Amino acid sequence: MYRANAARLTVNEGADERPRGVNEVTRTVTVRSEQLPRRTFRAFVELEGMYRNMVEQLVLYAVNNGVTKFTRLRAERYREVRSLYPQLPSHYAYTACQDAAERAHSFLRLKKMGRARKPYPEVRGVSIWLDDHLWRAEGLTSINIATHRGRVRVSVELNRHFLRYVNRGWRLTSEARVKLDRRDRRLVFYLTFRKEVSEYRPKAYITVDVNEDAEAVLIDGIVYLFETNLSRVTLGYYYRRKRVQEKYDRVYGSGSRPARRVFRRLSNNERLLKREIRWKLATLIVREAARRQAAIVLERLGRGPAKGMIERINDPQLRHRVFQAAFKGMQRAIEEKAKEYGVPVIYVNPRNTSKVCPIHGTEIIYDGRNRHGVCSKGGETWHRDVVACYNLLLRALGGDGGDAPSRMRALATLDGGPVPLGPTAAHEPTPIARGAWARWKSLGATSDHKLMRMST
Ligand SMILES: [Zn+2]
Repeated sequence: MYRANAARLTVNEGADERPRGVNEVTRTVTVRSEQLPRRTFRAFVELEGMYRNMVEQLVLYAVNNGVTKFTRLRAERYREVRSLYPQLPSHYAYTACQDAAERAHSFLRLKKMGRARKPYPEVRGVSIWLDDHLWRAEGLTSINIATHRGRVRVSVELNRHFLRYVNRGWRLTSEARVKLDRRDRRLVFYLTFRKEVSEYRPKAYITVDVNEDAEAVLIDGIVYLFETNLSRVTLGYYYRRKRVQEKYDRVYGSGSRPARRVFRRLSNNERLLKREIRWKLATLIVREAARRQAAIVLERLGRGPAKGMIERINDPQLRHRVFQAAFKGMQRAIEEKAKEYGVPVIYVNPRNTSKVCPIHGTEIIYDGRNRHGVCSKGGETWHRDVVACYNLLLRALGGDGGDAPSRMRALATLDGGPVPLGPTAAHEPTPIARGAWARWKSLGATSDHKLMRMST
């Protein structure tokens, strides 16, 4: 393990001087109703049918006419869909317009990127969008919904997740969606909570260098290497799907229904696994930042997949997915979580962050066999990810995020002398396997003492 002289750095000169922002943070929470009597449930099945029909018609119109804005869709089509079901509360025609505009918007974007498979988006899973006229919470245990058969009140089952938001000062908003669980005769509500969080003024920096399969994080002079295996997950599922396709195509012909079903399940599993990995790691990093009142420093990513490994993948769709999962997706998870804790996020120029020695400012020579390189001036050995983390820190301290930070000024702001160590030390990160960090609530758990305490 490698520890720099500086236990923690103080930020004064060259510090981040942006005005502190206030972020609005939104979270969706799922709440289920109790099992409904058949008659009541049937009313919701009818409602869903009408709503689906309105959305289908609106989506068709929107895609044909290139409409992606709710306001325009409403202006052009509200009367039409409203007259379809006069018995339905009028606001369903509004929310159907919102729903359809969003579907059309994301479909047209996919089409533009050449990633839409069908000429029209399929309206498969429907969740009914509700607004403040269509539903209200009555206390914490029941929800009142306007339907074509008058207002219906359903009882909901409270869960820990929901109560946590209520108790921590989040505000329940009027936007909600409801989905039907036909097997159980229940309604599933997706409720939206909102909170305003102001960013603090950072007293320190935590830098994060995202790689395909790991994330290097510099905290208190130690570079931790959190293994994520994100690109391995993406590639693994890609090849599994390919095998499934070949097998099913031989038996059923291409594009068969059973093959599609397996595909859907695999894609869903892949998405959930990646989301869990990202979300957990982001939470861990953001909590450490909040505890130290530190800002998080990330690379400013360009549009294209710039990282070396990805360029070697020929399939453009696969390249896109690896990039999304490993870089964009991970960054986005950190950004989202940071907002919730009021942690400022700073972006710096990523150019050559792993190629220049953080001490001497000269080139580091990598022999290409592993992730270690040697400084061309001092001759000291560096691990690529450690170099990247320190250079991100130097750029953040430089203030402008540009290529040429004031190295001397940056180093002078660290207590306890220049970073990092003497010329012969191997600057090694501390690797942590996914199975280990995924169970942690904080980094304190890294010491054996704490690990033992956790296991008892
Ligand atoms: Zn050097």
